[in-house]
Order: sequence, then structure tokens, then C-alpha cells
Amino acid sequence: MMNGQALSLLPLEDGFVELRFDRQGESVNKFDALTLSELGEAVALLQRSPGLRGVLVTSGKPAFIVGADIFELNTLFRRPVDEIAGEIARHAAIFTAFEDLPVPTMAALNGMALGGGFEFALAADYRVAEAGAQVGLPEVTLGIFPGYGGTVRLPRLIDFAAAAAWIVSGQPKPAAEALAAGAVDGVSAPGSLKEEALAFLRQVAANGAWRERRRNRQGPIAGFALERLADLRQGAEKQARHFPAALAALTQIAETAAVGRDAALRREAAGIAEMGKTPTSAALIQNFINGQALKKSAAAFARQGRPVKRAGILGAGIMGGGIAFASAAKGIPVIMKDIAQAALDAGLREADGLLSRQLAQGRVSEEKAQTIRQAIETRLDYRDFPSVDFVVEAVVENLAVKKAVLAEAESHAAAGAVIVSNTSSLSIGELANAVRHPENFAGMHFFNPVPIMPLVEVIRGPLTSDATAATVAAYASAMGKTAVVVRDCPGFLVNRVLISGFVGFLMLLRDGADYRQIDRVMEAAGWPMGPAYLQDVIGIDTCVHVIDFITAGYGERMAAAFPHAVKRLAEAGRLGQKNGAGFYRYVRGDKGRLVKEIDPDAEALLAAIRAVPARDFSDAEIFDRMMLPFIHEAVLCLAEKIAAGPAEIDMALVMGISFPRHLGGPLKFADQLGASALLAKAEALRSLGPLYEAPALLREHAAKGAGFYR
Ligand code: NAD
Repeated sequence: MMNGQALSLLPLEDGFVELRFDRQGESVNKFDALTLSELGEAVALLQRSPGLRGVLVTSGKPAFIVGADIFELNTLFRRPVDEIAGEIARHAAIFTAFEDLPVPTMAALNGMALGGGFEFALAADYRVAEAGAQVGLPEVTLGIFPGYGGTVRLPRLIDFAAAAAWIVSGQPKPAAEALAAGAVDGVSAPGSLKEEALAFLRQVAANGAWRERRRNRQGPIAGFALERLADLRQGAEKQARHFPAALAALTQIAETAAVGRDAALRREAAGIAEMGKTPTSAALIQNFINGQALKKSAAAFARQGRPVKRAGILGAGIMGGGIAFASAAKGIPVIMKDIAQAALDAGLREADGLLSRQLAQGRVSEEKAQTIRQAIETRLDYRDFPSVDFVVEAVVENLAVKKAVLAEAESHAAAGAVIVSNTSSLSIGELANAVRHPENFAGMHFFNPVPIMPLVEVIRGPLTSDATAATVAAYASAMGKTAVVVRDCPGFLVNRVLISGFVGFLMLLRDGADYRQIDRVMEAAGWPMGPAYLQDVIGIDTCVHVIDFITAGYGERMAAAFPHAVKRLAEAGRLGQKNGAGFYRYVRGDKGRLVKEIDPDAEALLAAIRAVPARDFSDAEIFDRMMLPFIHEAVLCLAEKIAAGPAEIDMALVMGISFPRHLGGPLKFADQLGASALLAKAEALRSLGPLYEAPALLREHAAKGAGFYR
């Protein structure tokens, strides 16, 4: 009947027709302009098909339909709000025309039906999902809400409060849960989805049950009671300052509860258009697009690199233990070597602890836990290292020790093995001098705690080969991490940017600001921890070392050449959480958690190093003085090609230092503020020195009206 590039209409027997989505040249089905246009044609054809008795919607891909095309949405959201609403309403009208076909309709859901994909399924009279399939409306996680009828149809199909909870969480639901909620009408055995869905469709076509079901979905939400959304609303209100979409979705549902489908749909299109104009959605959509770009590079690295068969981990400390566990958990066995039996025992205890927690949470089976445990062998010598094709050095942060260990490891590992160092500060170029094959050597910087932190920086030394960099990145991906390849420089990418912010913080303290206010301002801006609290968590002594080392690498621009707070705390033996006192003091609360308290002693210590008496700062001034160094350093890293592009830099900083997601990363945030506005802020803070001097690239952008993502 129709054979398009995205979908086709295939007549089945007795007046039934299959509408099959199978986008040519793509691995998934999604609602892009082409698919929507073909869907419009297909529905028009169905409307005028004599003898039509029912429509079965299927997918020719491993997943049903993954949603709207986010790249197209990103472009659409740059247009004026009424044009966006108009466009969305035009798309949604195609779904409604499908819903209003004069015959029963059924969607057979395989793999995933998400976002627009699930919304299209909701426009069908019935849904059968294959066992193992997932359905959901993740739009809120992109800072918008469902725009193709999701906020209208789901609350008219299942319990409206459950529907609201699905939409607010954005989490996909397994088929069984969707069945229990009534969002699907059946779950098929694997492999017989189409047959079971078609049999179901034939049955309702014969008995006419579909007519009543359809009527029920055209009117207001049955039994709506605003009180039942109160808890969800309270949660959404707390988030709304940075993430307004969940609250907006709840408002949309509540305010359209009493009207019929068509009026509710009109309101939904207007609502999503407004959400599409928020800075949060622009940032979250950029994060998504950046994530896709990084996934693509990860796939390329996996093709170019060599899969690791067995890794040797040197040093069974906090990092070595975590890396060993992360590798073993993904099926890549490791030999963990240390010079002390006690360290090996501690490393294994750490892995056991992680496994027990996962077992208790039901995230691994007893059997899997056993396999993971067996995949970690420990040694005090290099026995079996000839079988190791990848070595991660994670011993103490000392250049001479590391050089000796690297040379030793290279002589024992398999010929041609890739060797990496997990150093957080030493030069990869310098460490490379210790090995005979610097082309096989790179930095591989994990973050603490390894099992939780999603990022790994892959640092290319001056002689690192492409194949080595690819193998390291591929190993990181195999561990489930996001790898960002960076060039060697003090602090690499992530700690370099972090420390520039710490220097901004130290200057604020020097100039009379209160660290508690700084923490409050930054946490209110969406950082999980303010800089004082964060340094307590990292360890004040570690921070002194890292600040000294990294700032020394950037001369005047990052100099903290004044008596500074972190050094003062370290001198006073206040090492942060690890010994109960840093900027704050820490006591054990219920459940054994450390609770942070204000400590007048710290306050007195810090008063002594202020260059001027304490003075009041506005929150805005604190915010600017904290954020500009992050932005400037990220811009400099881009200009110096420390990483491949804005996507890599922003993602690394969102994942590595928890730069607030709703701002998108420093470069996206810079675009949102605009280069000229940033320049004006930098100009106002010029007396503070070169840390606040706008980088040349930012000045260029201001002159041209350009941006990092434009
Ligand atoms: P750690 O002190 O917990 O562990 C170091 C381990 O190395 C100890 O068990 C020690 O016995 C062992 N060791 C020392 N000499 C050895 C040798 N010759 N052969 C084998 N083992 C030896 O240290 P850590 O915190 O795990 O840090 C390890 C490395 O990771 C350092 O380079 C550090 O800079 C880096 N790093 C640490 C963090 C962090 O947050 N802790 C984050 C990123 C990177």
C-alpha cells in the first residue's frame, strides 16, 4: 500500500494492515521530519482505505521507536515560541488522526518505546509489549515534557497519579510494570509479539470492545483529584528553580484534567514550546547531544583499539582496588600487585565490600558475584605478568617510585602491552621517559570512588600512539566509563579547571568573604558541594599538594601566592573529613553518616589570614568570582586543544567536577550568558589579576557574536 523510507503499510489478511516502522539507513526508528511526514501520508491513506478492519503497528528494528529526533528538536527550539507550538501541534495532530481512524488499532512494542515512540503507542487503542520491553516518557530529563499527547493520553488511560509519577520521574518502565498499571494490555512471549498482538486485534475488532475504550479517552480525566498530586508537586517544586519541567508537567495535567482531549492537546503544545525555550532544556539537550558524540567516539576507539584480555593493576590502594573491581565487574580479569600483603588484603576487602553492597541491592546474583571475585587475583611479585596485555599503575604519587614501577612492569608484562599511569598530577611526558616503548604508554586518570565516578581522562603523552590511546579509551568504555582523550598539561583537563576555581575561592577568602556563604551560593546554583565542603571531602592536605602543583604549572595566571586558607588549615592539622575537622567539623550522626557543623575555631584561623577585614559580598558577586575562572580555564583548554572540542570539555566537567547539569558545562553556560556579557563581568573584576582576564578566544567570540556551539 505504501513503501516509504521510514515506514510502510503492508496489507495482512481480511482487511487488517500492518504499519511498520523501519527507518532505512538508521539503527533505530525515531520521529524525525521524514518519519512524521510519511506517517501523515500513511494515516491519510488508511483514512480512505475501503474495507479496512484494523491497524497493527510494528517495528522492523530491535527497538520500537526511541522518541523524537533530539537534534531536530534542538533546532526547532531556537525558533519563536509560537512557531514551536505550531509545529508541535502539527505533529501531534498526525497522532490524533491515527487515533481517530474508524477501526481498532494496536501497537506491538518491542525493545523500547520511549518518548514520542510511547506517545504514538498511546494513540493506539491497545498495546502489547514483548517480555523485556520498556516503555516510558523521559522528556523531563531533557528539560521539557511530552508534547505528542503524553500528558493527555497517559493520565486518561491509567491512574492519573501514576501517570503523573511516570512523567515526572522520566524513568522507563519494564513491560510487567506497564501491564500492572494498565499502560499495556498484554505482555507477549519473546518471539511471538506480532502473532499475539494481531490475534488480540482481531478479537477486539470482532467484538467491538475498542469503541467504548476509545470514548473513555476523549473526555476529561476520570476521578481527577488535585490532592493526589500533592506529594509529587512538593518534590517538583523543590527542583523547579533549576529543573522546571516536572512542575510544569504536573501543572499541565492538573489544568487540563477537566477538559477533553483536543483542548488538552492544544495546551500541551503551548506548554512544551515554553519549556523548549528554557535555558535548562537548552543545556540538558546539549548534554544529551554531547553524550551521543562521546558514544560515537567511544565506538570508534573500540574499533581502532585492542580489547584487553587481562590487566595488571599495580598498587592495591583506594584507586588500584577500585580499578580492579571495575574491570573484574565487566568481565576483564585482573592481577592486582602490591608490595605489602596488608595492602592486598585491604584492596580485596574493598572489592568484597562493593560486591556485598551490590548483592544486598540485588544488582548482581550470588553466582555473578563469585565470578567477579574470582576475576581478581593478587600478587606480591610479577608472576603471571607475561599474560597481562594492559598495565595500570596506581601506586603512590611519587615520580621516582612511579618511574621505577613503570620500568619494572614493562619488563614483566607481555611484549607490546599498553602501560598507563593513574597519576593525578605528574607529567605523562616525564613518566614516559621511564619506559622503553613510550608509544605504548599513556595516562589513564580515574576519579575516586572508581566504581561510581563515570569519567576517565585518557592522557596522551608526546609519543603515545593512536592505537594506544584508542586501546586505553576502549578499556575505559569496556568498564562502563566515559573516556575523554586529553593532552598532557598540569592537572590535565578536569583538575586544571577545578583548581582554577579553587584559586578563585581562595582569593575570595583573602578578600574577606565567608566560606559558608560561598558554599551556600554554589550549592544553591546546583553544585552538589560548595568549594570549602568539597575540599574537606577530598582532604585538605591533598588539596594543598594539588593546588601547589597545578598552579605552579600556569605561572602568574593561576598564582595563589598569598597566605591561603587551605594551607593554613593544613598547617593547623585540620585535614578535612578524614580527621573530623577542616573548614567545618564533622560528627557521626544517626546511621553513622558524617554530619557537617560550623566550627568557630576554623573561622578564627581563617580570620587571621584575611588581607582585609571581612566584608559583605552579594551572592551575585560571589557567583561571578567563582564561575569566571571555571569558564576561562575551560575556554583556554579549548583554545589549546587540550580536548577535541566543546562536547568533550563540557561532558568531562559535568561528569568530573559535577559542574551543574542544568547549565550544560562551562562552555554551554558561556554561550547562554553570551561572550559580551562575560567580557563585561571579567572587565569588572580585572583588578583581581590575570585569573579574571578574559581569554582571547572569548574576546573573539564577543567581537563576532559567535559561540562555542554555534
Ligand atoms: P594509596 O596510598 O591508597 O595506594 C597506593 C598503593 O600503592 C599502596 O597500597 C602501596 O602499598 C602501593 N605501592 C607503593 N609502592 C608500590 C610498588 N612499588 N609496587 C606496587 N604497589 C606499590 O593511593 P591511591 O589514593 O590509591 O592513589 C594511587 C594513585 O592514584 C596516585 O598516583 C594518585 O595520585 C592517583 N589518584 C588518586 C585519586 C584519589 O582520589 N585517591 C584520584 C585519582 C588518581
